[in-house]
Amino acid sequence: MKQKSFTIFLEAKIESGKKGESSGHIQKLLDLKVDCDNDTILVIVEQVGNTACHTGAKSCFFKSYLKEDKQTIIESKIANLPTKYGNFDVKAYKDGCQEHLAIMSKNFKELKTPNVRIHSECLTGDSVGSLKCDCNKQLVLALELIAKEGGLVIYHRQEGRNIGLVNKINAYSLQDEGYNTVEANIKLGFKADERDYKAVGYILKDLGLDEIRLMTNNPKKIQFVESCGIKINERTPSIIKSNPHNENYLKIKKEQMGHLL
Ligand SMILES: [Zn+2]
Repeated sequence: MKQKSFTIFLEAKIESGKKGESSGHIQKLLDLKVDCDNDTILVIVEQVGNTACHTGAKSCFFKSYLKEDKQTIIESKIANLPTKYGNFDVKAYKDGCQEHLAIMSKNFKELKTPNVRIHSECLTGDSVGSLKCDCNKQLVLALELIAKEGGLVIYHRQEGRNIGLVNKINAYSLQDEGYNTVEANIKLGFKADERDYKAVGYILKDLGLDEIRLMTNNPKKIQFVESCGIKINERTPSIIKSNPHNENYLKIKKEQMGHLL
């Protein structure tokens, strides 16, 4: 078996044998296992701030401790995906415990300035049709647009602004009690938005994008794309009709999160 070069940080955790106290920002070590194609380590701890994903009261984060030049994102091949919107090509990317999907129109590679949407996963909206948010309609709008005009949708699987599904539903429970979306996240110990776009940057680079038409209302996504050295020729708003269930959600997005609505 190939020798792996884990950092002292993790070795110390292993050797300490303590399933309790640990130093740094990790409050309590619950489990530790090597995972993900033999080159990553999963550390499951109780509630930490700076994490890649969260599950329940636990949080987990991955780090790759192989050689520094080794790319930590694993790529799939490209496959054909017929959908009700049109025929697409899809490519998956595995970044630690999170897997993302690039959905491309068939003419994507020929486009000089493709339409691009970075869509943040929302299981309740995208799959269940929740009316509490605008995610489902934004996803449909984007898929319809790239089916018609060509482009790319990156399905960025950082559920609930990257607090994970269990925490998101707990936040919804707090919203049932009257907290708004930002207040609920903060009450659970998270920032209003815990997303990071590292994997998106990798995907944009992998797909060779220089200039795009970005479909978003989120100024953070605009800043991020520009920080990757990609020119945004045009920003296409992703505006959907509100309903009585998401009016307040959209208001908070606009007033407290700076969304261009
Ligand atoms: Zn949503």
